[in-house]
Amino acid sequence: MGSVPPASSLPALATNPKAIFFTDFDGTITLQDSNDYMTDNLGFGVELRRQGNRDVLEDKKTFRDSFREMLDSVQAPFDECVRTLLANVKLDPKFAEFNSWCRANNVPIVVLSGGMQPVIRALLAHLVGEENVKGMQIVSNDVAPRPGKSINDVGGWTIVYHDDSGFGHDKSLEIRPYAALPEGQRPIMFYAGDGVSDLSAAKETDLLFAKAGRDLVSYCDREKVPYTVFNDFGDIHKVVKSVLDGEITVQQAAVNKS
Ligand SMILES: [Mg+2]
Repeated sequence: MGSVPPASSLPALATNPKAIFFTDFDGTITLQDSNDYMTDNLGFGVELRRQGNRDVLEDKKTFRDSFREMLDSVQAPFDECVRTLLANVKLDPKFAEFNSWCRANNVPIVVLSGGMQPVIRALLAHLVGEENVKGMQIVSNDVAPRPGKSINDVGGWTIVYHDDSGFGHDKSLEIRPYAALPEGQRPIMFYAGDGVSDLSAAKETDLLFAKAGRDLVSYCDREKVPYTVFNDFGDIHKVVKSVLDGEITVQQAAVNKS
């Protein structure tokens, strides 16, 4: 086994938690995907977005390129995009309660997202309360002005990817240093997600929650990755609490195994 990574690459260990809860944002914490919402309502629309998804599935385009095209079709100033999302995107109704429980029980929530940092922060602050999401670690893509413009100009912003991967953000990168910790130092790691980009990350953790009826469920079945289905964060809350209380093991909680 390699050497233990420096503590600076393990920010979620700062409070010496028994467990860490990693989670996707769009479609997992939120009910609607904020990037899809922007594309459909402020950008090139649902038809071209779906065509882009098909091109990715048929290997005609990378996810990275298709996602950038989608967001580049949104010409609205960034502040207007955020206002539109705040007015229309809703959070899982049980997320706020789960978040409070996690804060009270020293379970850090780490958001791993292909979305843009300021959008995620704004939605969480608006819907869960600024105070309640203050310390939350969010690892995501970002936004930057186009040359000679400000992000709040028409056509003024573009997405900045987190890394060089085909997804723009390889979510497993953040998790791997924790997964590499030796037995005894390694906290229990949970992951919640709904899409294809969550699979690589999920494989590194101890228990995956996959959202009912979404792509991640079929991918897990195909790849034989054990998981447990959730409808909302109320389901997740029960299981995480039972595991931390020692009532069930993560193996027992991963009920969907092929
Ligand atoms: Mg998602």
